[in-house]
Amino acid sequence: MPLHPAGQPDRDLMFSIRQLFLFLSIIFIALLFAGLLLVRWLWFYPAELNTALETQKNEMFSLNSVLELKKETLATFVSDYANWDDTWHYVQEPYREYIATNFTDTTFESLKLSGALLLNNQRKPVFNLEYNSESSLVTSNSMRLLYWLQQGGVEHLNDQPTTLFQSIDESPYLLAISPVMHSDNSGPRQGWLIFFQLLDDDILSVWKRITRIPLMRTDIPQNAVDLLTSPEDAQTFHDRCLMSPEQQPVYCFRIHHQQELPQFLSSNVITAFLLIALIPGIIFILLIHLLITPIRKATDLLELNNKDGMLRPVLFTTPLRIRELRQLRDTYNQLVYTARQQQARLEQLSNTDRLTNIPNRRAFDDALESTWKRLKRHKQSAALILVDIDYFKRFNDHYGHQVGDDALHRVAQALKGCAKRTDEITSRFGGEEFALILYIDDANNLDAVRHRIRESIRELNIRHEHSLVSKQLTISFGIAWIRESGPWLENMSKEEWLRAADAALYEAKASGRNCNMLQIITPEMPFTESPVWQQSPD
Ligand code: GH3
Ligand code: MG
Ligand code: MG
Repeated sequence: MPLHPAGQPDRDLMFSIRQLFLFLSIIFIALLFAGLLLVRWLWFYPAELNTALETQKNEMFSLNSVLELKKETLATFVSDYANWDDTWHYVQEPYREYIATNFTDTTFESLKLSGALLLNNQRKPVFNLEYNSESSLVTSNSMRLLYWLQQGGVEHLNDQPTTLFQSIDESPYLLAISPVMHSDNSGPRQGWLIFFQLLDDDILSVWKRITRIPLMRTDIPQNAVDLLTSPEDAQTFHDRCLMSPEQQPVYCFRIHHQQELPQFLSSNVITAFLLIALIPGIIFILLIHLLITPIRKATDLLELNNKDGMLRPVLFTTPLRIRELRQLRDTYNQLVYTARQQQARLEQLSNTDRLTNIPNRRAFDDALESTWKRLKRHKQSAALILVDIDYFKRFNDHYGHQVGDDALHRVAQALKGCAKRTDEITSRFGGEEFALILYIDDANNLDAVRHRIRESIRELNIRHEHSLVSKQLTISFGIAWIRESGPWLENMSKEEWLRAADAALYEAKASGRNCNMLQIITPEMPFTESPVWQQSPD
């Protein structure tokens, strides 16, 4: 658990950027949806409903207009016949030709009449004709029309022409009644002429054609509503009836309105919502791609660096698009490179001898360790050479410490020139002693190396008046040469290799100095306390 600087556990709520964004997105979508519903509920939906209602009212109005036209047409027909001297006289004195001329089957057919009733002023029928359109027969003394007259039809006879819907013998009829007058519309009234028109399915299909509204005849419902009543609610269907003056339903039909009713949650609304909800989704993907994934990768790498103490730069496979992220990456990487340089510098300092500027004992120990491992794994030839300056105490004593230091530096640089390969090393082993690890393949090369080492010091030509072996500064060295390495070295240790070189050096000193001794280490003759010494040929 992360700690505050004060050392208290961090108990604050914490989110990842992903969680935070997801949380905010859900809130955003919820608010958006609520807002959308509210706007629809308060604004768009009522407006759409209102438009639908207006359209439906208009449809009903056009249907009404058609019916009015129909009434007027029938009223015109009946008044044409009723305001006519022939009819007027006929009521007083009926004569055969009148009916034969004016009420033929053609008359009924062309005027689409189902019946005609002529009454005198005493409301008694003068003629009573019914027409059957299927058989094209005109019959007189229709019981149906008399029945209507007796069942209250007389109530509708007055001085004004009138049209009305009536249910006669359970069939719907449109009636037009006109008082019988002279042709010039003067009185006195002689009776009434009534035209009956049956409202059958043919008439319904004519209305459908004219209004272009799908209509369907229905049975008379319990609560019949007059066609004239304006709808209060928009509905897909409206059941309406043509009413008699007594408010009895005569002819009922279902009006199927053409405009679809608006839905509160229509597919358009849902599509709009989904499209808007896509916005946080797209932003989320962009944020993940541009911001969160790079941050996550960088954080993982920093954690890994922190865990194993390595200094890796933050690298991304895809280019960073966010400027601040780029600045963070570049600044961090610059820090990493600076720290690496300092680390390398420190490492170099800690592995370098200050006086001679060559690798120190520590670096030698590391090199010995890695070389020893390699020698055990692979077949190789390597020599460990310990070099010691002869009578250096005397040199110091006579020339001074500073001159001694200079001499040490020059000897170190000369020996350094003897290690050519990058995996070879010349190091200061301690005091006036140096240690080299060189890869030497065969005896000839070994001789060449021994010669080169000796010559490199001789060429320095450092005066040493007080040496007991030469007028020059000389060295003695001992070589422990592993002619062919391999797994057999498991039986030996690197310390024994070092001891073998040290013993060879000791032997060189004991042999009078300014010379070198060699111990060859082979599987048959590994390091023993009584090695076979090979004196330097010099
Ligand atoms: P030998 O031939 O037996 O090696 O004789 P030696 O005098 O070289 O050996 P000894 O071990 O008696 O003396 C080593 C001397 O090396 C002692 C010390 O004054 C000198 N020496 C060691 N380190 C330094 C150094 O860093 N600078 C200088 N100037 N002298 C050093
Ligand atoms: Mg010494
Ligand atoms: Mg010495």
